[in-house]
Amino acid sequence: MMRLPRFSYRRPQTAAEAVAILAASGPDALVVAGGTDVYPNMKQRLLRPKVVVALRGIPGLGQIEYDDRQGLRLGSMVTLREIAEHQDIRRLYPALASAAESVSTPQLRTMGTIGGNVCLDTRCNYYNQDLDWREALGFCLKSGGDICRVARSSPTCRAINCSDTAPVLQAFGASIVVTGPHGERRVRLEDFYVDDGIQRWNKAADEIVTGIAVPPPAPGTRSVYLKLRSRSSVDFPLLGVALVAELDGRGVCRGAKMVLGAVAPRPLEITALAEALVGSRLDKAAIERAARAVFLAGKPLDNTIATISYRKRMLAVYARRAIAQIAAAA
Ligand SMILES: Cc1cc2nc3c(=O)[nH]c(=O)nc-3n(C[C@H](O)[C@H](O)[C@H](O)COP(=O)(O)OP(=O)(O)OC[C@H]3O[C@@H](n4cnc5c(N)ncnc54)[C@H](O)[C@@H]3O)c2cc1C
Ligand code: SF4
Repeated sequence: MMRLPRFSYRRPQTAAEAVAILAASGPDALVVAGGTDVYPNMKQRLLRPKVVVALRGIPGLGQIEYDDRQGLRLGSMVTLREIAEHQDIRRLYPALASAAESVSTPQLRTMGTIGGNVCLDTRCNYYNQDLDWREALGFCLKSGGDICRVARSSPTCRAINCSDTAPVLQAFGASIVVTGPHGERRVRLEDFYVDDGIQRWNKAADEIVTGIAVPPPAPGTRSVYLKLRSRSSVDFPLLGVALVAELDGRGVCRGAKMVLGAVAPRPLEITALAEALVGSRLDKAAIERAARAVFLAGKPLDNTIATISYRKRMLAVYARRAIAQIAAAA
């Protein structure tokens, strides 16, 4: 049986208290929300915090609010299950509901939170192993060594962002609400993530995520999230494709944003997609143009299961399927 290392458990009553504990404890402290990623990683000795700061006792972080002018506001402790089951989210942000529903298992979705999902650690075949395995192979940049074993000449870690909800939230234009010693600030999803599997977020160690704000969908908005994984019962994504598109009454595309998960240390927006789709009906020619743009933009690395060439081919397949689903719904 794998046991947790020793640590001191703190349960602050306010966000300000949590931030103060983090500031006082420095790099030895770690935030825990649902614990579904933190505790397995501690058991594998990937994380060894001396102080664990639990957010569960802070009132007000578990709220879901929606109104037509402000859009959706999620407290960071809202669980993935609550998101998947929420009627307004299913109706107005269906891709978010299906991304939340696709995470791991019912038990873990009942514990796992949206804050933990957007702050999910990056993953890599060479890192997410037990200590004996990592010792036998030799360490890498992320585990204290001096080389990346996936991309040997890379100065930065290329471990991938495997959050299912992050690409969807980015496609919807969401912002993260971060609370720190100087109060609250909002960061757009694309600015929150960093293209480095160790650095991961544009967030100081004494800042916590307290909420997520998603703008109201424009009229004619449709959304879809598709996930490639090896076992559909439970598995991290090998590829996540989030697409949010706005169609007019004749089915012509007025706006489209596609963001990929599990291909880079941060969610990857396909900027060429709008060029391929906007102004056209979502017909076969437009879908092929878009699939080609996605194929060219995505550059999977050898840091998860399945070969690079298979994952690269799946970029076009899943992009086609996502656009076709939106076209069919229109
Ligand atoms: C078997 C298994 C399968 C899984 N499959 C998937 C999957 O398919 N897709 C997927 O996306 N995830 C998957 N996960 C990972 C995890 O269960 C989910 O990502 C979950 O949403 C994490 O939320 P949590 O509240 O449990 O986070 P925690 O484990 O509590 O925290 C995760 C990370 O976020 C940080 N954190 C948490 N909350 C905050 C906050 N408010 N502010 C700042 N930092 C914070 C923690 O310090 C930690 O770094 C899987 C896990 C397991 C064990
Ligand atoms: S991408 Fe490289 S540095 Fe990062 S965890 Fe994998 S092997 Fe280590």
